[in-house]
Amino acid sequence: MSCLICAGPAERIPCAGSWEECKCSQCGHYRIADALVLSLMEQGQIFDIPKVRAWLALAHSGQGIPSIEQVEGLLRT
Ligand SMILES: [Zn+2]
Repeated sequence: MSCLICAGPAERIPCAGSWEECKCSQCGHYRIADALVLSLMEQGQIFDIPKVRAWLALAHSGQGIPSIEQVEGLLRT
């Protein structure tokens, strides 16, 4: 599959619940809420890649897999 953030090659990880879980060599390992992916597609919005990667880098220093549940400040405007 392709990365939901940068559209580069990524590995999809099967996961429980309403999440898309991805491992991208550029963005790292992350989860995005299914509903969020759908609404982004519907609205034709795309992520601001450097912002998302910076957010993920911060989130990776915490516990577990970073989970994107809201995209405020992470979209290209
Ligand atoms: Zn990526």
